[in-house]
Amino acid sequence: MSTLRFQALQTVQNRSFQAVNTSELRSELFGRNVFSAQSMRQYLSTASFTTLQQAIEKGESIDRQTADAIASGMKLWALEKGATHYTHWFQPLTGATAEKHDAFFELTLEGEVMERFDGAQLVQQEPDASSFPHGGIRNTFEARGYTAWDPTSPAFVYGTTLCIPTVFVSYTGEALDNKTPLLKALSAIDQAATEVSKYFDKSVSKVQATLGWEQEFFLIDSALAAARPDISLSGRTLLGHASAKGQQLDDHYFGSIPSRVLNYLKQLELECLLLGIPVKTRHNEVAPNQFEMAPIFEEANLAVDHNSLLMDIMQKVAEKHHFKVLFHEKPFKGINGSGKHNNWSLATNTGVNLLSPGKTPTKNLQFLTFFINTIKAVYNHEALLRAAVASAGNDYRLGANEAPPPIISVFIGKQLTEVLDELEKVTDGKLSPQEKTALKLNVVGKIPEILLDNTDRNRTSPFAFTGNKFEFRAVGSTANCANPMTVLNAIVAAQLSVFKKEVDAMIETKGMKKDDAIFNVLREYIKDSKKIRFEGDGYGEAWEKEAKKRKLSINRDTVKALKARIAPSSIRLFEGIAVMNAVEIKARYEIEMEAYTKKVQIESRVLGDIARNHIIPTAVKYQNVLLQNVQGLQAVYGEEYRAFAKAQLEILKAVSNHITALDTKITQMIAARKEANLLMPVAKATAYAQNVLPFLADIRSHCDALELLCDDELWPLPKYRELLFVN
Ligand code: ADP
Ligand code: MG
Repeated sequence: MSTLRFQALQTVQNRSFQAVNTSELRSELFGRNVFSAQSMRQYLSTASFTTLQQAIEKGESIDRQTADAIASGMKLWALEKGATHYTHWFQPLTGATAEKHDAFFELTLEGEVMERFDGAQLVQQEPDASSFPHGGIRNTFEARGYTAWDPTSPAFVYGTTLCIPTVFVSYTGEALDNKTPLLKALSAIDQAATEVSKYFDKSVSKVQATLGWEQEFFLIDSALAAARPDISLSGRTLLGHASAKGQQLDDHYFGSIPSRVLNYLKQLELECLLLGIPVKTRHNEVAPNQFEMAPIFEEANLAVDHNSLLMDIMQKVAEKHHFKVLFHEKPFKGINGSGKHNNWSLATNTGVNLLSPGKTPTKNLQFLTFFINTIKAVYNHEALLRAAVASAGNDYRLGANEAPPPIISVFIGKQLTEVLDELEKVTDGKLSPQEKTALKLNVVGKIPEILLDNTDRNRTSPFAFTGNKFEFRAVGSTANCANPMTVLNAIVAAQLSVFKKEVDAMIETKGMKKDDAIFNVLREYIKDSKKIRFEGDGYGEAWEKEAKKRKLSINRDTVKALKARIAPSSIRLFEGIAVMNAVEIKARYEIEMEAYTKKVQIESRVLGDIARNHIIPTAVKYQNVLLQNVQGLQAVYGEEYRAFAKAQLEILKAVSNHITALDTKITQMIAARKEANLLMPVAKATAYAQNVLPFLADIRSHCDALELLCDDELWPLPKYRELLFVN
């Protein structure tokens, strides 16, 4: 057997592990390494604590003196936790997190060591960040970028570093990160939703978007991963024949978690709890070696930070357990991909979930208001929402193996569909008393009962209502949730503002009662947005045809999908609610196009190399084995040898044909890359999608055919059955 594959399999066989001790009380561990309100009370003066809490609540800025006091308390707390360094922790447009560590201590002029960390260091830093993507926002001669403290996400100690969540902006003020637009979108939805909530309850003064993500991932042994250049370099398998056993027995979902994996997950959970990430569920997913972690939902900004942090910790803890985490949306062909469902809702400061139907008709009118406005927002901006989940990796997932298709639609279940159908029948203008009673009792009053058995689940819906929240399922597993959350909250915020204006206008100009005005506006929205609602099977041509008729966008690949980001309607939307300006939007468009190009380019290079350096040489070796055999047969049997060498000759022919085809296609692929590389970013991405990407599948098919033909002992790469079933 080829040495690398053989050694890797040996290594896996010999793995042993030490069980992680989980005897400590979880509730005691929770948030121990977070500078939480509780720690703040202990380490800050009452005055500083109150100022900080107010600043967080109202989004006010913090004066220098208070910042100094907070920094001093934070430093003391961090040093007691064993921190030696601090870092501004931010989320540049690479989608990952970034940090630059500085030691706490400095030297005084007298050469003495002194621990220094004051308000200035806490509030703002100027990282030498010229190598982060900026899409032309920052010219190299003005490469300065600033990180600025986000007090709404608490600082934490990870390892020996105090991490301070920050935004990252350019010298000229444009956002260079994922967090800044998110914070602005969250503030926009707070304002818009609070205004609308006041129709129902005057005491509402704040609305927070909530997010509960579900992170799916694959785990494979690190030795096997290291023996596969495609996994090491691109995070997914670029070749590999399907295993004889895949997921067809459905025996992995919710099955018992393998003990080595469980041990890893336990350690991971401990780390999460210390950092205040409220992980709650862990289970096997549908595919072999696929798992999911989900927390209790949190305020959206915090939840986004926690997901980014989790992805980082997952990889670090995995190293200790000799696993590699595959976050890719489609690491294995023909096997379920990984997503990151974003469960989303809105919560008032009075403790009400605005997407949860209540017990009274008023509460349900409130529910319907937010429910229908969300559907309308998704309808108005379906293409932008599709763009928010676009990535080279997600292109392979969307529309395959139970993942939602690349067409955005909303699933609400049978009963709520009936409710909306009834509402739609309300006559124009003022409601008659009978109509009102009928509506309130028959439609609006019945919702909670109805929802009790609304257990309909449609796995192929990209955006589904699941009882008291919407679940945005099209989000890919590698995504930073900030981007989809920015778009979703922005479109709903904009929609709610329009709704408020329309309702107010009806009350003022037509003299309508508030409830009548709300019903009237909602009824029109139900009619307007009907085309986005889809309850059927998201697969197959039937839906695609229907979607085309409904004029919904069908963008199978990222390059096409991203165009919606820079559509005039998107720019108007973001500028209108001050979430991003045109410069920031266009910069993101370019960055994402470039990211797409780079992903495909890397995969193309890696596959080309593997095919030339691993697969062709292996096939040639096997060709020689066959040739020798045939020659031997001829030596023994003379002209009669053909009768005995029939199979060998057929295989020989097939192997030779695949070798020739591979070589030709690799050469053509390289030529296509060279041609594409001469183009400007957007044209380049398009050329990569159209002219380079198709070679990946084509070259793979020859490699996979050879895998079935060649001697298993010669095959150099761990096979699917080994990657998926050995642990
Ligand atoms: P599943 O979708 O896998 O059946 P659940 O319905 O139990 O799982 O919940 C999935 C996720 O939804 C969890 O992460 C949970 O925290 C989140 N969630 C529940 N309620 C809300 C809410 N009001 N806002 C945001 N997320 C929520
Ligand atoms: Mg779910």
